[in-house]
Amino acid sequence: MIPPRSIPRPSRLTWTLWLLAIATSGSAYGLRILASHHPDWVEAVYARRLYPALAHWVSLPARLAPFSLAECLLGLLLTGSFGLLLWAGWRGRHQRPRLGILLSRGAPVVALVCGLGAHVFLLSFGYHYARPAARNAFGLTPPPPDPVALERFARRCIRQAALELAAAAPPRTAERGSELPLSPAQLADLLAESFRRSPELTHLSDVRFAPPKAPWLSGLMARAGISGIFIPFTGEPHYDANQPASSLPFTMAHEMAHQRGFAFESEANFVAAVICIRANHPYIRYSGWAGAARYALRDLARAPERYAAVTPLIGDELRADWQAQGRYWSRYASGRLARVSARLNHAYLQSNGVASGIANYNEVTGWLLAWQAARRETETSEPETGEPAD
Ligand SMILES: [Zn+2]
Repeated sequence: MIPPRSIPRPSRLTWTLWLLAIATSGSAYGLRILASHHPDWVEAVYARRLYPALAHWVSLPARLAPFSLAECLLGLLLTGSFGLLLWAGWRGRHQRPRLGILLSRGAPVVALVCGLGAHVFLLSFGYHYARPAARNAFGLTPPPPDPVALERFARRCIRQAALELAAAAPPRTAERGSELPLSPAQLADLLAESFRRSPELTHLSDVRFAPPKAPWLSGLMARAGISGIFIPFTGEPHYDANQPASSLPFTMAHEMAHQRGFAFESEANFVAAVICIRANHPYIRYSGWAGAARYALRDLARAPERYAAVTPLIGDELRADWQAQGRYWSRYASGRLARVSARLNHAYLQSNGVASGIANYNEVTGWLLAWQAARRETETSEPETGEPAD
């Protein structure tokens, strides 16, 4: 007679791991839901007090390292995980994998790590998705669509871009259009100064942020269709160093806007345009106006007659810069990696409450029109730096 096999019971360690996993993952989910119902708390407690202090200290190692710390950590993580798998495979080469232990210990450990990771992400950046950052900082509300205002704004952007480009007089090549007439470090410094001078961001004026970094994997970023990315765990904004110079100031400012708590892509684009337009260098202001013009024209294309009336105003040099950008991205970012990356970004944004996903990048003109309208109301006889009054 065969004795009945006893069913192994979960050990105390397994129960403890499951409890910890449920507590960390559940509390992260619960706090995120709570935050989305109380954006005013998020603004007052997290964005105005906790985040500036956290950002200051989290970015300390990245301020000291002249290279991308996030890229190094990613390399170490991948190498370490691969080594661990090899070691586990070697040690267990004479044993059959025990599914019971893998499920009872492995699953709660994975859930626990995910829960802890969610808390770290929320604290280092994620709670910003629960507040209307641009509305709170700039006191603006995007107006309803108005083709007349949009056409006027598009005309202004094109005119200002041409003026600033003429003032900057950058060197040009046939392939890449205009070249950066300053070093990337100078560009980063001027953008940081423009952020510091912004009256809407005085609560961040004492925070020392990490400078933007060009990772060694810039080529891979381009193939994934990523012109820039902010990594909150190290507080570092990254940019693809090889992209055409005309888009670089706008890209850098966009990632620096994320770093300063503007989580939504539309808001980071809006802040990037404003910060570039206010900067103390004509080429940076050019990039801001040209970036704003592209988004305005994209929206204006829904009114074909107005669009057709505005596009002849685009000068040869601005057109050549946009063509250089188009050539660059169609050459590097038209493969499978770019499609997968776009899908992942779409899922990431939607999981953080950005309903439109990657379409959110284009939802910027409402903010720009609101900003223009507010400036027109308050404009004095003295125009902002480098920007003649209308
Ligand atoms: Zn972004």
